Amino acid sequence: MGMFAGKVGLVMGIANDRSIAWAMTEALVAEGAELSFTHLPSPSSERRVRQLVDPLQPKVLLPCDVQKDEDIDRLFAAVGHAHGGLDFLIHSIAFAPPQELRKPYLECSREGWHLAMDISAYSLVAVSRAAAPLMSEGGAIVTISYFGGEKVMPGYNLMGVCKATLEHTVRYLAWDLGRSKGIRVNAISAGPMRTLSSAGISSFDEMRDHAVRKSCLPRNVDPKELGTTGLYLLSDFAGAVTGEILHVDCGYSIVGL
Ligand code: NAD
Repeated sequence: MGMFAGKVGLVMGIANDRSIAWAMTEALVAEGAELSFTHLPSPSSERRVRQLVDPLQPKVLLPCDVQKDEDIDRLFAAVGHAHGGLDFLIHSIAFAPPQELRKPYLECSREGWHLAMDISAYSLVAVSRAAAPLMSEGGAIVTISYFGGEKVMPGYNLMGVCKATLEHTVRYLAWDLGRSKGIRVNAISAGPMRTLSSAGISSFDEMRDHAVRKSCLPRNVDPKELGTTGLYLLSDFAGAVTGEILHVDCGYSIVGL
């Protein structure tokens, strides 16, 4: 019996089999978790996600655009109805218009800034607030960040500012939800992975090469290692860990070179 047997989770942010949320799903399923899922409200997104998750026979697979409160309300009502509660939530979502990422941060538009912040940072507030009433026994929430939220990574630009906001959002949510409901909130700061999202970052290949040259472990992170870190943060082994940004980056972030 796996260590997540009898536990119910919601995974938000699978686009395809390269998604970090999918790596976390595979790890959780191997440990016996029962999962529900979301996809972007488009036929192609639904088709790709459905193909991956259908074999898991999820009780809930619904469209959710995190910019829409009505999508979030409908999703969590369905999860409550289907499962009666929730033990954990994975938020693995970010977006910025590609043209905004190609510009220096100085040049980002007001509209692009608001859109990127809404999807990449505010969404964690919105979904955590919706999930909390379903987590009556305490619970755990994990989101995914990047080192570009702590230090300037040329090319990461507007998304770096979103990640800084996301990381401090993790801390404030950890306070609010820890005090009120015993819910833990943490982030994984992941090393660079080739995914749909990372394709929008012009300096991405350079980031990956640089990570290999500079990291304590001279290689890039394996997606499976994000999955197993997710297991740890969502499990009772991390029962006293909250408000934490855990770097899973082969030690890249501790080197000052
Ligand atoms: P991905 O493209 O597979 O996942 C991003 C997800 O965000 C997609 O599933 C997409 O549907 C979802 N999304 C975008 N806009 C949305 C909206 N309005 N409503 C709901 N969902 C929306 O790429 P990924 O690399 O797996 O990204 C997952 C998370 O990991 C992101 O927060 C990303 O910033 C972060 N991250 C990625 C890397 C990397 O190198 N790939 C490194 C560190 C952190």
